[in-house]
Order: sequence, then C-alpha cells, then structure tokens
Amino acid sequence: MDTLDAIRALPKVELHIHILGSIRPETLLSIIENDGIKSPYSSEEEIIKRFEYTDFANFLQGYMEIVEYITDERHFEQITYEMLNNCAKSNVHYVEASFSPSDHIPKGLDFDKMADSINRGIQRAKQDFRIETNIRVDLVRNSSIEEAMGILDNIEKSPDNIISIDLGGNEAQDPPGPFAEPYKRASTMGLHRVAHAGEAAGPDSIWEAIRSLDVERIGHGVTAHQDPELVEYLKRERIALEMCPVSNLRTGVVSSIKEHPIREYFDKGLLVTVNSDDPSLFHTSMNNEYLQLHEHLNFSLSELYQISLNSVQTAFIDEGKKSKLHRKFSEEYNEIESQVVG
Ligand SMILES: [Zn+2]
Repeated sequence: MDTLDAIRALPKVELHIHILGSIRPETLLSIIENDGIKSPYSSEEEIIKRFEYTDFANFLQGYMEIVEYITDERHFEQITYEMLNNCAKSNVHYVEASFSPSDHIPKGLDFDKMADSINRGIQRAKQDFRIETNIRVDLVRNSSIEEAMGILDNIEKSPDNIISIDLGGNEAQDPPGPFAEPYKRASTMGLHRVAHAGEAAGPDSIWEAIRSLDVERIGHGVTAHQDPELVEYLKRERIALEMCPVSNLRTGVVSSIKEHPIREYFDKGLLVTVNSDDPSLFHTSMNNEYLQLHEHLNFSLSELYQISLNSVQTAFIDEGKKSKLHRKFSEEYNEIESQVVG
C-alpha cells in the first residue's frame, strides 16, 4: 500500500467528537421530513450548503439550528450509531463522544431517555463495528450554574458510560471561571474533566480552564502558542490538547492548515491528539484529519502513529484497557509498516 492508504489504515482514537455535529445530512433531512418539521431544507445539498460558515459565531448558529430539529430522544440512537459507523471507516477503535443535554432539555427532551438512546446506538455499533465508546457530557457554557448542577444530578442517578464532563459553546462570551463549582462536584463524583478553551479566545481562557476547572485535557488549545509560559506548562504537566485542525479551518480560527500550531506543539513534545470535532458540519473525518496533517504539515506515518498513541495514553480508560489498546495498535502498525511502499 502507499503512504496515504497506510495513513487511512492507521488505528485511531477519537477523543473530541460531538454527537449532534456528526449527524449525516440525509439523516437530518429524514428527521425533518418524517416529523413534519418546518424548515428551509428540501434536499441534502441544501443542508450541506448550510454547513459552511463565515466565522465561529456563525458555526454555533448553524449548530443551534440543528438542535431545533431534534424533537424526539429516539433520534439520538441513529445519530450515534451512524457517527460510530463513520468512525469505524477511519479505523477508529475507541471514541469519547460529547453530548450537550442542556441544549435539548429546555425543548422538552428528557435526560435519561436521551442517554438511553445514545447508549443503544453505542451498543449496536459495538456489535457491528467492534468500536468502544464512552460518553462525555458538555455542560454548555451559556447555561446557568443551576442547569449544570441539574445535569450533574442526572448523571449521578444514571451514569451509564458517562466518564467525563466538558464545556463547549462560545468561550469569548462565557469564560470558564464561573463553572468552578460544578467542575469541583464532578471531580468528587469521579468524573474526568475537559473544557473547550483557546479556540475562540486567547491563552488566558486556557489558563482559566486549568486554574478554575482543574481540567485534565483542553479541547482545542489553538491559541496556547501566544504564551510560551503556557506552552511550557502544558508540556510539563502533560495536559493533553484535543486538536481539531479542519474544524479550526472551517470556523476561521486558523487561515490554513499550514498555519495550524499542531506541528509546533508536536515538535515541542506536547501531548497532542487529533480529532474531528463535528465531522458532518465540517465535512471531515478522522482519516481526513490525519491526511491533512500529512499533506500540509509534513507529518510522517510514524509521527501520525505517535499521535494515535498519544490519544491512547490520555484516553479516560483504565490502565488495563489502555495496555490492551496499545498492544492492538502496535500489532496493526507493524503490519501496516511491513506493507507500505514509497
Ligand atoms: Zn468541540
């Protein structure tokens, strides 16, 4: 096989993917049609065209538009199953998938029913594609602290497969600091902690997520390079960065993949991982993310494999599962390496 096929065949881990942002355009269209929802879309092409953005705020607007079309908890099973089917096509073995209940609860959807529906999708995908998945819950930064605490109450009652919390949304408008209390409580509940930071705001937002929320990983962290002290800190403390290069390109956070700081972070020895964020909304996949890094930032096959191993290392799974995954990855990589030509 050639290098591009070898990159596609690499075993991968997806740590930063939003379930709703993975909805296939045809699935969204069928939900709109079957449920008789009023919308400006009558074809897949029109939906795909809507998935183009002028900036980050415009992307969030598009995302919230999709939230309006999800009127039944059962939709999550299909969306989750298809998301994992797509992941499996990029040889992803393990996924941590983000779900934002606070977007849907005010529209009358029930937390337990949504979580059950997602778990049904996960179970079916496990049987069909042998892919393992855990859930992380995005507390959504424009929600109130009371809402966040309510979500934690729900997780406490039915924690099935929920391993972590996250904080998504517009960080330029809603900084992380006020969420210190829910994050502290999540920690005592044994949940892992991640927050989106340094995507739509500067390095101060990353410092605040570290200091106020005690996060173990940062979602994005694109702007960290503006503060060399922060870069040193991330390296020393082994705080992983969940980087999503194509997402950053589509929302205008970077002007080209070539400008993306992932190469600099990787070369400096930071614990960087690569992820697809909202693959449908950004017309991407895990294979595409890896291929972009190869094409525009000269990542070699072995460097991309190192990125995969970084993801295994920082995954929120126990040491036993990590070593099993590591062994499997190493077997697959040796096989790929022996077949690659050119
Ligand atoms: Zn994200």
